[in-house]
Amino acid sequence: MTDDGARSNGVARILIDDEAIQQRTAEMAKVLDDEYRDDVPLLIGVLNGAITFMTDLMRAMQIPLEIDFMAVSSYGAATKSSGVVRILKDLDQEIEGRRVVVVEDIVDSGLTLQYLLDVLQRRNPRDLRVVALLKKEKADAIDVQVDQIGFTIPDEFVVGYGLDYAGKYRNLPYVAVLDRRVYAAE
Ligand code: 5GP
Repeated sequence: MTDDGARSNGVARILIDDEAIQQRTAEMAKVLDDEYRDDVPLLIGVLNGAITFMTDLMRAMQIPLEIDFMAVSSYGAATKSSGVVRILKDLDQEIEGRRVVVVEDIVDSGLTLQYLLDVLQRRNPRDLRVVALLKKEKADAIDVQVDQIGFTIPDEFVVGYGLDYAGKYRNLPYVAVLDRRVYAAE
């Protein structure tokens, strides 16, 4: 149990702390700065989970950039992705000819990201890259394109730093594993 207030009730252990996230984010931002120095990339944040990572990543970048957001939802059980994806909010702008960077919170089975990349690719961006804060170590994950991964994590359900469980825990400043009793109480 952590001692940072009621928002952490139910947290079993911190997996990646705030400092480690910020340090790694700065490294990833530097790679993007170097890659897109002569262009203005369009960063696409995938709502809601990627919002925290997106805001930290873009503030760590030094080059001019633009942002947009998409919201997607996968149906199914709360802690599992079914691979059936629905666009809840589309982009506000065209991406044809743009250099696009998809900013994801977490890649689990890879199905959500694969769907999103298929949708975006059909809109003819100049190129399309993916930056994900977290990727789960998973034998049965599909082989989806991820150009930069912040952290590879064990196959556990995590919350915090934008990631939720039943809508909560997004405002934790770190990535954490929940106590199993939280799910059991469902
Ligand atoms: P995938 O389609 O790769 O299996 O799942 C991707 C989406 O499922 C993520 O964008 C996220 O919304 C959700 N997800 C997958 N694993 C986790 C997890 O461990 N914790 C949380 N909070 N969401 C997850």
